[in-house]
Amino acid sequence: MDMVFLECNKIDEMIHTILIANRGEIASRIIRSCRSMGIRSVAVYSEADKNAPFVRDADVAVLIGDSAPSASYLNQDKIIEAAKKTGANAIHPGYGFLSENADFADLCAKNKLIFIGPNSEAIRAMGSKAMAKKIMQNAGVPVVPGYEGDEQSIEVLTNEAKKIGFPLLLKASAGGGGKGMRIVHTVEQLKEAIVSAKSEAQNAFGDDHLIIEKYIASGRHIEFQIFGDQHNNYIHLNERECTIQRRYQKVLEESPSPVLNETTRSTMGEVAIKAAAALKYDNAGTVEFIYDHSNASFYFLEVNTRLQVEHPVTEEVTGLDLVKLQIQSAQGDQLSIQQEDVQSNGYAMELRLYAEDPMNNFMPATGTVLHFSWPKLEGLRIESAIESGSEITVFYDPMIAKIIIKGENRQEAFRKMQFALQQMVCLGTVTNQNFLQYLVKHPQIIAGNYDTHFIQDFFTSDLMHANHEKDAQTALLAVSSYNWHQRTQERTLLAAIPSGWRNNFSYMQTDKYEIKEATTTVQYRNLEGHLHFKIGQMEHKVSLINVKDSQIRLAIDGLQMSFHIASDQQKYFVHNEQIGTVHLELLERFPIPKKQKIEGAYEAAIPSTILRISKKVGEAVNEGDLLMVISSMKMENSIYADAAGIVADIYVEEGQNVAAGKTLLQINKN
Ligand code: ADP
Repeated sequence: MDMVFLECNKIDEMIHTILIANRGEIASRIIRSCRSMGIRSVAVYSEADKNAPFVRDADVAVLIGDSAPSASYLNQDKIIEAAKKTGANAIHPGYGFLSENADFADLCAKNKLIFIGPNSEAIRAMGSKAMAKKIMQNAGVPVVPGYEGDEQSIEVLTNEAKKIGFPLLLKASAGGGGKGMRIVHTVEQLKEAIVSAKSEAQNAFGDDHLIIEKYIASGRHIEFQIFGDQHNNYIHLNERECTIQRRYQKVLEESPSPVLNETTRSTMGEVAIKAAAALKYDNAGTVEFIYDHSNASFYFLEVNTRLQVEHPVTEEVTGLDLVKLQIQSAQGDQLSIQQEDVQSNGYAMELRLYAEDPMNNFMPATGTVLHFSWPKLEGLRIESAIESGSEITVFYDPMIAKIIIKGENRQEAFRKMQFALQQMVCLGTVTNQNFLQYLVKHPQIIAGNYDTHFIQDFFTSDLMHANHEKDAQTALLAVSSYNWHQRTQERTLLAAIPSGWRNNFSYMQTDKYEIKEATTTVQYRNLEGHLHFKIGQMEHKVSLINVKDSQIRLAIDGLQMSFHIASDQQKYFVHNEQIGTVHLELLERFPIPKKQKIEGAYEAAIPSTILRISKKVGEAVNEGDLLMVISSMKMENSIYADAAGIVADIYVEEGQNVAAGKTLLQINKN
């Protein structure tokens, strides 16, 4: 299936260097296809992305501006300038940002740069939902009954709404991403909904034009991937079902759809081709339909004139490289396969991993990803924007990776996806991983029985609390054992520690942790090769099997399993296939006001052992008096008073090992 396009024969017309006007996973994805085709890749990046993987993936990378998208990824002049400077002859816009900006496509053409996307008239026409519906209606494509006229007064909209009937949907004509959409159930709700949809549309798109549609109450979102060349040839690459959505945004995408039969599939495919032909469509695009399973009817929603986030689903089942096809089409090659050559094998699904908190209304999260890894699994494909160490900033979309599974059939793919989600480790920031796991384990999703309301109807954050108590205990055992191991390691590095240090652990060690705003005390002691724990009324026996980097394998009450642990100061992130990801914080044993340096307080700068204490509480000291001798990193250090005063308190004793930052003693000025 590689020879989809007939090669163009003039080498000087071929694309040789592509600038990718995008970031994150899609930039890395495009670079991969460039490399496989022998095409140079140029990344552009913002200040915030200077260490991002996609910047390093590219052959050359150009810093184009500050972190705000308007200063960088949306800055058309900077991007064109970067293309010229690096000798690029084509620009791939990815998705989002400038990908559906017809003016940018024209600007590229003006600068003799090939825009890798459809012709700008098609982009412009589909950028307006009102115009798109009119064009499709004329082409004989079924559209949702509604109103898409220019008259926009509240009176006209109200009259049209009454004709259509309730429930109905108001949509911003210039809309995208679900913005400016309102479901209206009764005529009484209408006026307020129109006013608020208009204002949201004006703010988001600078255009308050609305269309009205009959609301398909239990609809499914089914879309067809289309492809066209510049020679009036069109094919479709079958469907993706994207019905599982949250706030009109896709969460799970799959192909083939679990509900389409062959007849409906081919009818919808033919309609998708009709839509492509109506636009003289000449690159990758997606025709979206809302599908009513009760009577197998379907209606056109819109055409997305770009490569979609979910394109890997189609790649997995058809075996085609969609980015490669885009590049070939953009340089004028001719489609070389017919519709009947397009195959669909097996089943593929994609889930979007977001840095967001499902327990807190999916609030986007930021932070440093301390560890990111996934299992080796046949059929698993990860398209990632991040790696261990990446920063997630406030500037861009919080999607951090796409998890794609290819299976022989739907059942196999679901099993593999459940396994992948169990084993995938992303520590350091909140993600929706537990939520995705909830979705792929839900019997109704497994059965393929859902509509676009599924998440809204079935998901509450309480569902994520199940098993919380037991999981918290397991996480505490893992983190305490890990900490014990770390401390033991540190101690062996300190030469001055008496060899009988293990005796220190013959008494109970007590730590306090905070998990989800509750404080739990953990007590443990080292007993003949295992750790004996007490947490509340529960006792546990934990043996340490091995530790490798951030991974620790433990036998907890005879059950052996692995944990990934990462820490940032007192904060711990622990992942295990059974408990998922749990966050906890070690509380200070002798809490002192954080970061506030107290006058006269002396601290251990690094982990140390107290060798000698030369003063007693209440004793007067002069500037320069010897206070303490400690040993750290094989060096003896004497601590002298830097001012005169009285010893107010001593927090350590001779022979004690202390962590970095530990306050040793306090001297108050006279
Ligand atoms: P956007 O451009 O903002 O993404 P779309 O028109 O693509 O808006 O619609 C987004 C989602 O809203 C669809 O995937 C579907 O779930 C839902 N939707 C859109 N139109 C209708 C409709 N007429 N009836 C029911 N649901 C709809």
